[in-house]
Amino acid sequence: MDHPGTNHVAEALQTVKARLARSAQDAGRPEGSVQLVCVSKTKSADEIRPALDAGERVFGENRVQEAQKKWPDLRRDYPGIELHLIGPLQTNKVREAVATFDVIETLDRPRLAEALAKELQTTERRPELYVEVNTGSEPQKAGILPEDADAFILFCRETCGLPVTGLMCIPPADEQASPHFALLATIARRNGLAKLSMGMSADYELGIQLGATLVRVGSAIFGARPDAAESA
Ligand SMILES: *Cc1c(COP(=O)(O)O)cnc(C)c1O
Repeated sequence: MDHPGTNHVAEALQTVKARLARSAQDAGRPEGSVQLVCVSKTKSADEIRPALDAGERVFGENRVQEAQKKWPDLRRDYPGIELHLIGPLQTNKVREAVATFDVIETLDRPRLAEALAKELQTTERRPELYVEVNTGSEPQKAGILPEDADAFILFCRETCGLPVTGLMCIPPADEQASPHFALLATIARRNGLAKLSMGMSADYELGIQLGATLVRVGSAIFGARPDAAESA
């Protein structure tokens, strides 16, 4: 069954996947070592379906409430979906986030770690957890500061018992991304973290060169979003 934009999304997806595969190959990375996260924030269920029909199962959303509205029906229609939270998480939304997401990429402060640890005592759900690092130390941006990252990762693991598996960053919009990706990789390496979520539509190939295991690609697949969606 066709939905509006089916062909465009399917074609864009093919292009992104081909470029992703070539970048991985050029970087000497094994096939399949880079996971594409299709970022579907602001897009309707009907806009997302073409990607699901094309076989994609890993998606990213930046708002808990939006994901809660859109994804239950889609999960019913398409088995095996893995949903990533890539936007800031408020402590009062932790319960809903744990219920809705399979991967939470935005663990970034002690109070949130404590709230997650507490919530995990009450549920069987075990979302995978990434720590978000504010590699550009931007005051308006979420993420733990680079100089606090080691201590925070230790706090999550030792004090809260949270099995953190990776790191995520969103480089400053107006800077070269490569130093930020390299910094994230360095912090991951010295903390024994295997997963690196770095690279978006404009720079996922660079992310792959520098070791990304996840790239989060939205507009290159689903088309541009209204500006307001970028502020989160
Ligand atoms: C929106 C968003 C993306 C996707 O951005 P595009 O430039 O559309 O690929 C990736 N990561 C995060 C955290 C986002 O909020």
